[in-house]
Amino acid sequence: MSRKITGATLVAGVAGAPVRHSLSPIIHNAWIEAAGLDAVYVPFAPSSDGFRRFADGLRGGVVRGLNVTVPFKEDALAIADELSERAALAGAVNLLVFAADGRIHGDNTDGLGLLGAFAAQAPGFDPAAGPVAIIGAGGAARGAAAAFVTAGAPEVRIVNRTLAKAEGIGEALGAKVRAFSLDAAARAFDGVTAVINATSAGLLDASLDLPLEATPSPAVVMDMTYKPLETPLLARARELERRTVDGLEMLVRQAVPSFEAFFGRTPPAAVDVRALCLAAIGGQA
Ligand code: NDP
Repeated sequence: MSRKITGATLVAGVAGAPVRHSLSPIIHNAWIEAAGLDAVYVPFAPSSDGFRRFADGLRGGVVRGLNVTVPFKEDALAIADELSERAALAGAVNLLVFAADGRIHGDNTDGLGLLGAFAAQAPGFDPAAGPVAIIGAGGAARGAAAAFVTAGAPEVRIVNRTLAKAEGIGEALGAKVRAFSLDAAARAFDGVTAVINATSAGLLDASLDLPLEATPSPAVVMDMTYKPLETPLLARARELERRTVDGLEMLVRQAVPSFEAFFGRTPPAAVDVRALCLAAIGGQA
């Protein structure tokens, strides 16, 4: 890639710590290049207590916006002056847009990415057709729960190591959400249409040992972790002949509304950003 930076180059980026291995610059810069935009997407790594100072300094829109990843999502929620309906419902923010008047708009695109990944990799899956189980109760789980409630799921079961955090999602999202401890996962999987891993457990090689055999055979199993692309959870699901959805598809699809917010146009379809990400993480298509 050899692009010229000019006085008019638009800037957006991703903030995280660490941010070195983020795939978002690969995705957005490939779209920028294919669209012929005078723009650049940059990784930023503020110090662990420096995110708010950093984001405050961007007020005014010289930098169009930021995707926000671990560990700054809570700071992003706190610093936003206004939230989109879906971010407010989720109580989680992964996108900040800096308006010219100095205000910061917070949004959450994880839910759209998740449902888009189901539509792509589990065709015919209907989020309103039955209960779903989400493992984890952090920001990603909140975004997923809000998306499923909005899409008409009759029940969303949050299964989490710390039960109180799962109960907190229920308090925020209402009676359709039920909380389960990890010990009760088999009960939570009874009759579900989908199981979604939204924990960071796999990241530390302490893969979750979930009782997937308790799910009905048409259930779809999704893992938000995408390194490796086929996680132990997805491998087990395939053994049980469940359909699977991977976290990379979600990552690529949550980037679409971010690109639109930064640059005011849809990303060009011609460039295969999934293949570029796979090459970067050493996976197969
Ligand atoms: P958080 O740190 O906010 O939440 C992590 C959750 O994982 C908590 O509920 C925590 O449980 C649980 N957890 C962590 N370790 C274990 C373990 N060993 N056993 C059981 N539960 C555990 O993270 P996020 O919600 O922001 O992200 C979660 C994951 O989703 C990350 O891996 C992230 O990379 C991924 N993600 C992927 C996206 C994609 O596009 N594919 C988008 C967003 C996130 P407890 O509450 O008990 O601490």
